[in-house]
Amino acid sequence: MREREDKPKRIIEAALFEGNIGPVTARELVAMPSAEWGMLRDRITDYRQGRPVGLLCRCAMCGDPVFIRARKKNNVPLPLFSHFQGGGLHCPWHSGSNADPNELREAQYQGKQESQAHRLLCEQIEAMAKLDERYLASSVNAYRPPTESEYGRFPDVAVTWRDFPECVFEVQLSRTFQTEISARCTHYEREGVALVWVLFGFDPQHDAVPQNFIDVIRRHRGNAFIIDRDSVAAAHDQRTLVLKCYPQNAHGRFDPPRLVRLDELVFPKDSLPYMEDRISKALFERIDAARRPCFAFLKTINGVGYGVERDSEERDALISALRAIAPQLSYWESARENEENAVLRLVACVFSLIAEANGKRRIYGTKQPNVVAMLNTWLHTREDIQRCALIFEYLLQRSPLTHLLAATLGEHIARAKGIMEGNLVLEHEPEWSVLSHLVPEIFHPLIRDELRYLSALPPWAQSIDGVS
Ligand SMILES: [Zn+2]
Repeated sequence: MREREDKPKRIIEAALFEGNIGPVTARELVAMPSAEWGMLRDRITDYRQGRPVGLLCRCAMCGDPVFIRARKKNNVPLPLFSHFQGGGLHCPWHSGSNADPNELREAQYQGKQESQAHRLLCEQIEAMAKLDERYLASSVNAYRPPTESEYGRFPDVAVTWRDFPECVFEVQLSRTFQTEISARCTHYEREGVALVWVLFGFDPQHDAVPQNFIDVIRRHRGNAFIIDRDSVAAAHDQRTLVLKCYPQNAHGRFDPPRLVRLDELVFPKDSLPYMEDRISKALFERIDAARRPCFAFLKTINGVGYGVERDSEERDALISALRAIAPQLSYWESARENEENAVLRLVACVFSLIAEANGKRRIYGTKQPNVVAMLNTWLHTREDIQRCALIFEYLLQRSPLTHLLAATLGEHIARAKGIMEGNLVLEHEPEWSVLSHLVPEIFHPLIRDELRYLSALPPWAQSIDGVS
């Protein structure tokens, strides 16, 4: 066995996601926070299950579909792309045989699937549901006939209350397979039933939370639900179903638990219920932190003529934050000062547009009365802004201001594109990196896509007709 371990392992160096995510390298994947690659992993599985939120991902070498495998290294799960069983046979990046999920599954179910404790926990959930005065019906491990699907299923616990979403509880053992998790999510989503996973054997103090628990916790937006003596006692006090929830924090660890009534959970239309959305929260905290020096600077030039050119501490701080993202801020300007002015002027334009899209009019770095006058003037007189025509077009197509493309601003953008043809700022250039750092909701395809998946894309980053 040792010999095999020492052999260098071939890995899939990059994979291509369909739609607007595009290529992701193995290196980028490993660098992602676990909630981020985990979400991609879920969505690849979802695709196999035919869910609309699913994503197809292909090996960048052979084009065969791939999935994201989590491999533990020093107890930290590291993601890597992997061909499906039977795929990538002629791929130079193929790393040998994968375990056949069907065989693994058989091995799992031949073991006694339902332990005594599992059964007791299911009955406990049902008993709590019966305490509520809205209780109409429930079952444990009974066949639930389909309404929308071809086949029914055997949910661990099914609960119907008056004037309340139909709920299904699955008591999850650490061994449940990811394909099985996704299959159940898909099934109950199609059936319009709220699915709550109750973790059995979850230990928040333990460093190595099993991967399949992590997957389920993420699908519940960073909430781990369990049932214990506290929740059962609270259920009897409050005469309703009470769960214990451990919210996951930004470090992947778990905050102290809170008791939460089933009827206090948020029930999104097309994903699993949650107490508190920790995943979007962490994402927005990262975005806010990236934007902080930018807002500090913009505040100093709100409505100020030639504001971009004025020296200030805030300006210096923003410039050094941006240089950390793109050491050279523009390939167009040769002088450092012009390079800085150009990128800050672009930032002023973009944030004036976003303020307008957000219904809060702010004009940064000029005394112009509104953002259209600001842009039309600069698109007319400034080469550095003319070069950014594609950026403005991209932004407007992804904002509620899309209609401005059909008005004078659209004409000025078209004109600038004509003048600057061959010299327009293209997507691999620093200006785009800067904006994808400052405004990922619009300029970072992966984060934009995640926010959409979490139903958390802000209205100012959505076009009214729903383009991309
Ligand atoms: Zn391949």
